[in-house]
Amino acid sequence: MSAEEFRRHGYAVVDWLARYWTDLDQRPVTPDVAPGQVAASLPERAPEHGEPFEDLLADVDRLITPGLAHWQHPMFLGHFPMTNSGPSVLGELLTAGLNPQAMLWSANPALTELEGVVCDWLADLLGLPASFRGNGVLQDTASAGVLVALTAALWRRGGEDWRRHGAGTRYTVYTSTEGNCSIAKAVRVAGLGEDRLRLVDVDHHAPAMRVDHLRALVEADIAAGNVPVMVAATVGTTSTTAVDPVAEIGELCREHGIWLHVDAAYAGVAAVCPEMRWIHHGVELADSYCVNPHKWLLTGLDCGAMWVTDQRALTAAMTTTPAYLSGSTAPHPAAVDLRDRQLPLGHRSRALKLWFVLRWYGAEGLRAHIREGIALARDFAAKVRADDRFEIVAPHPFGLVCFRLHADDATNAELLRRLTTSGELLLSHTDVHGRHTLRLATGGTATTSAHLDLAWRKITDIAADLLAVAPDAEAPRPGSAVGQPSAGLRVQEDLCGVEGGVHFGQ
Ligand code: PLP
Repeated sequence: MSAEEFRRHGYAVVDWLARYWTDLDQRPVTPDVAPGQVAASLPERAPEHGEPFEDLLADVDRLITPGLAHWQHPMFLGHFPMTNSGPSVLGELLTAGLNPQAMLWSANPALTELEGVVCDWLADLLGLPASFRGNGVLQDTASAGVLVALTAALWRRGGEDWRRHGAGTRYTVYTSTEGNCSIAKAVRVAGLGEDRLRLVDVDHHAPAMRVDHLRALVEADIAAGNVPVMVAATVGTTSTTAVDPVAEIGELCREHGIWLHVDAAYAGVAAVCPEMRWIHHGVELADSYCVNPHKWLLTGLDCGAMWVTDQRALTAAMTTTPAYLSGSTAPHPAAVDLRDRQLPLGHRSRALKLWFVLRWYGAEGLRAHIREGIALARDFAAKVRADDRFEIVAPHPFGLVCFRLHADDATNAELLRRLTTSGELLLSHTDVHGRHTLRLATGGTATTSAHLDLAWRKITDIAADLLAVAPDAEAPRPGSAVGQPSAGLRVQEDLCGVEGGVHFGQ
C-alpha cells in the first residue's frame, strides 16, 4: 500500500469509525448470532490475489459489524465499562503506524521515557504515594499485573533459590473470596498450584476482606511451615465494587514481610476526584498496585498501569540478558529497560494513547467523566430503592449498582435474560451472598441519564410482566413457562451469563 493509498483508505476508516460512533445507538447492543455463524460466512482460505481496500471495508459492514457486541453502545451496561475516546484511538493509530518495540531504552528512548512520565502523571492524578514515582509501567491488563507482582514477590522471598528451583510447595497467597479470577490464575501460572491460594472471608454488608480471618490464615500457615508470600487486596471488587481495608491489610503484611498487591483494576481511576481519594487509604503500604485506564478512564483496551515500590525485586525477577541483547543499554537511571517490568520481551507501547487522553481531557475533564458515572449510578440506585419490588444488595460507591427483584433466583435470571435478548440493553449478573443479582454499570463514554431512564423503564416493564405471571417465590425457571430462550447458545444470553450461569469475574 503506497503512502497515497494509505492516506485515502485511512481517511475512509476514520470516517467509518466516526459514523459508527454517531449511529451506534441505532444498533442492537448485542448481536443475535450463534457460535460458528460468523466463521461460516467467511471464505475457507485466504485470497490468492490481493483485494481492493473498499471490499475489505464493505465486508466489515456486511459480515463483521452485525456480529459485534457493541461495548461502546450507550446501553451496554453490563460487566464494567470498556471506555474509549477519540484521543485514545488516534494515539493508538499513531502507535500502530510507528510500530515501536520498546523492550530496551535504547530500542525506543522517547517512548520509554514518555511511558515513565505518563505513569508518574497518572500516579499523581490518583493521589498515589511518592514511592511509586519512576516505578510505573503500562502492562496489557491487570491479569498481567498480578502475575508480574507475584513473580517479584516470589523473588523477594525466595531469591536465588526460587530463581533456580522454582516455587515448590512452601509459598501461600491470599485474597478474599471476592478477589478477581486473575489472582487464582496468576497463582496457577506461577507454578504454586491453586491450593496454595487462601480465600479470605468477607464481611456481610460490603463484601470486603475480613482482616481477622486473613490474620488467622496467615498465622496458621506460618505455624504449619508455609511461607506467606503475597496478599492481593482489592479496591473495587469485580462482583460488587467492595473496597478491602488496605491499611489494616498492609500493616499485617508488614508485620510478616508479605508482599501486598493492590488490585484496583476498575475502581482506582475514581481517585482522580479528590472526594474519592479515600479508596487509596493505606496504599502507601502496598508493594505493587494496578489500575486499568482501559476500563473507566476513556482509554482503549489495552492499558493496565502498574507500579511497584521495590523495582529491584521486579527487575531481578523479570530480567533476562541473552548475548544478543547484552550491553545494549546505557547505564543511566533514566535508561529503563521495559522488558524488565513485564513478562514479554517485546514491549507494546501504550504511552501515546494514554498521553493523548490525559492531555485532551485534562484532570478536570477526567474528573467530570468519573463524577458523571458515579452520579448516574446514584440516581439509578435511588429509583431502585424507591420501588419496593426491588432491593439494592450492596453499597455502590462507584458506577456499579447491584440489585435484584424481590423474587427467587429463577425470576431474576429470567428478568436478565429478557432484558438482554431484547437487544436494547445489556446488563450482567453475579452472586451476592448466594443470590442471583443483576449488575448495572454506568460510566460508558456515551451513556447519559436518558439512557438510564430508558433502561429503568425496560427493567420495570419486564419485572411487572414476570410478577404478574409468578407473583411469589414459585416463579418458573428461565426458559420453561415464562419466555422461551432461542434455540442453542446465542451471544445475547451468553454474554450476560444467563444460560450457562457464568459468574463474570469470579
Ligand atoms: N481485577 C478486577 C478487580 C477486575 O474487575 C478485573 C476485570 O474486570 C480484573 C482484575 C481483570 O482485568 P484484566 O482484564 O485487565 O486482566
